[in-house]
Amino acid sequence: MSKKLVRVGVLGATGAVGQRFIELLVDHPWFELTVLAASSRSAGKRYADACRWMPSADMPEQVTDMVVQDSAPGIDCDIVFSALPGDQAGEVEEAFAAAGYGVFSNAKAHRQDADVPLLIPEVNPDHLAMLEVQRRQRGWQKGFIVTNPNCSAIMLTVALAPLQAAFGLRAVLVTTMQGLSGAGYPGVSSLDALDNVIPFIGGEEDKMTTEPRKMLGDIADGQFVPADFALSAHCNRVAVREGHLETVSIALKQPASLENIQAVWRTWQPLPQQLGLPTAPQPVIVVRPEPDRPQSRVDRDAGNGMAVSVGRLRPCEVLDYKFVVLGHNTIRGAAGASVLNAELMLAQKML
Ligand code: NAP
Repeated sequence: MSKKLVRVGVLGATGAVGQRFIELLVDHPWFELTVLAASSRSAGKRYADACRWMPSADMPEQVTDMVVQDSAPGIDCDIVFSALPGDQAGEVEEAFAAAGYGVFSNAKAHRQDADVPLLIPEVNPDHLAMLEVQRRQRGWQKGFIVTNPNCSAIMLTVALAPLQAAFGLRAVLVTTMQGLSGAGYPGVSSLDALDNVIPFIGGEEDKMTTEPRKMLGDIADGQFVPADFALSAHCNRVAVREGHLETVSIALKQPASLENIQAVWRTWQPLPQQLGLPTAPQPVIVVRPEPDRPQSRVDRDAGNGMAVSVGRLRPCEVLDYKFVVLGHNTIRGAAGASVLNAELMLAQKML
């Protein structure tokens, strides 16, 4: 696939996740970035005037003079990547899908809908089958909504997926230390964030306990059936710019040695890696041998921000094993996840 095949737009293009989308899409081999859209506050402005660019020193030249548009159907593209706030995304994304656009959403609005795939291409590509049900129920001919999970749920789920397939999971206990960019821009005030850990992120623990079970579950009779393991989460905001680090304890259904678990992580080659999708990291799970890794600042960019790093695997005194998992929240946890979803659908001729 050498020529650009699909014209794409970004909704919420001026925000923390929107900017990551731009980084990933400007030189994408398959997608042509044709539209940047945001709120009515930004619509009509040059992108360079509407946005405080943060991912790198210089905003990519090809977007500086693009005029920001309203986030409403009618814009000139085939699919949209949505980085809209959760409370705005619901109706807007439905309007796009009803108008025939493919919608790849980062927002929470539709993640738990009974007919919307919550997708990680490495974990549950089979859940795309639900789009047939979605179109039938909603009367959409061409449009659809596919979501990617919460930025902490995705790291955990990637680390758990091969273990669940190999040994089964009985229980999972996770504590997150989530970077500031997870709250968007400008996000948490500096006086709240610096010299501090905030042991509460609104709505996060609910997402952390429901989303992995939806993704690691099955589809039966046209319905999602969540995985049956117990899952408990503590979510904390820490003074790290990017990167969500999580400490995890697990109980398995079948016995496994420490070496068995490491081997399963190291040899995991799920569908996006087999297909060689442009944004798929190789390997998807990086197993760190050092006693003090992964660390947020050091390891978040592994695999161009798309790999999930694990380490410190050891026996747990309460459950079976414990380990640390880390990923880049605005790339693997947001924009990169969405772009990979679209790549999978294009590679499977679903776009
Ligand atoms: P953000 O930095 O606050 O950006 C929000 C974007 O939405 C801006 O482009 C803003 O445009 C636009 N917007 C706000 N109100 C709007 C409206 N009424 N209509 C249309 N556009 C509107 O937020 P973010 O961190 O990028 O998060 C975006 C979404 O991704 C959220 O749903 C969030 O939960 C989800 N998410 C974030 C992360 C993360 O790590 N940050 C990870 C996973 C998922 P203006 O500049 O014009 O106001």
